[in-house]
Amino acid sequence: MNGNIYQKFEFYVRVSITMYNPDDLEFTPARMHKIFPSILLILILLPAGMLLAAPIQSMVPGGVAIIELGNVDKTPHFKFRNKPVLVTHLNDRLVAIVGLALNLRPGDYFISGHWDNESALLKKFFTINDKQYSTQHINIEDDRKVNPYASDMDRILTEQKRQNRAKNHYSNKAVDVDLLQPVAGIMTGSFGRRRIFNGQSRRPHSGMDIAANEGVPVAAPANGTVIELGDFFFSGNLVYIDHGQGMISMFAHLSEIDVELGQQIEKGQIIGKVGATGRVTGPHLHWSLGLNGTWVDPSLFLP
Ligand SMILES: [Zn+2]
Repeated sequence: MNGNIYQKFEFYVRVSITMYNPDDLEFTPARMHKIFPSILLILILLPAGMLLAAPIQSMVPGGVAIIELGNVDKTPHFKFRNKPVLVTHLNDRLVAIVGLALNLRPGDYFISGHWDNESALLKKFFTINDKQYSTQHINIEDDRKVNPYASDMDRILTEQKRQNRAKNHYSNKAVDVDLLQPVAGIMTGSFGRRRIFNGQSRRPHSGMDIAANEGVPVAAPANGTVIELGDFFFSGNLVYIDHGQGMISMFAHLSEIDVELGQQIEKGQIIGKVGATGRVTGPHLHWSLGLNGTWVDPSLFLP
C-alpha cells in the first residue's frame, strides 16, 4: 500500500509524542519500556533519506495527502474543493500536498486541474481513511472565555471573519515544506481532539500545543509574510504568517508580538513570545498550520 512505511513511522512518532502527554494515563512507564525498542528498530530500518522527508503523508481527516504529479517541468494548476492546492518538488518528484479537513468523511476524493497552457482536465483520485480522535476535558477558570457575554459577540464575530480571511489567504510563491519547530518544548500531540470546556462541547483542537514557559521566543517555521495579528478574544495575541501557496501558520496566546502587519519574515526569525493570553489553562504555544483553507496536523511537517 502506498505510503505504508510512512504510516508506520507516523504511528511510532505519534506514540512517542503521546507518551509525554500527562493527560494520557495509558502510557505508563511500564508500557514505555515495551514501546521504546520498537521505535529504535523502526528508526534503524528507515533509510536516512526517509527520516528527513517531510511532510509525512496521513490520509485521514486532519492529515495531508501527497499526490504524485509526475516527473515533469510543467506548471500545474490543481484545486481541491475549489481551493488551489500547494504544489512543490519533493526530491525529484512534483507533488501536490493537499490539506484534509477534520470534518471530511472517509471515502474517495480527487484533486482536479490542468497543466499550464493545456486545456485537458486532469483528475487525481485518493482515499481518505477514518480516524477517531480522543476527547479532552478542559477546565477554564475564566468562564467568560467559554460562555461569552452577549456584549462580546460583536467582537467575536468580527474576529472570526478576520481569522477566516487569513486562513484562506493564497499567494503564489515557492514554498518550503520542511518546517522548523517554532519553540523547543514538548509537543502534546493534541491536534484534532474533541474538546469539552467547562462541561460544554466546543470545536476540535485545530493545532498543536507546545509546552513552554511565558516569554520563550517563538520562531517562524518557514519564510513568509505577516498577514494578520492582534489581541483576539479566544486566541489572545495572535500572528498569522503566509508561507505561500495556501500554507498558513497561526500562533496564539502570545505574551508579546514582535512583528508588524505586512512584514517579511525569514525562517527562524522571532515573531513573538510564548504567553497565556485568551482561552488557556496556562502558558503554551498554540500553532495551527493551514493548507488549502483548512487546518492540518503541524507535526506532519516537522522532521
Ligand atoms: Zn491549542
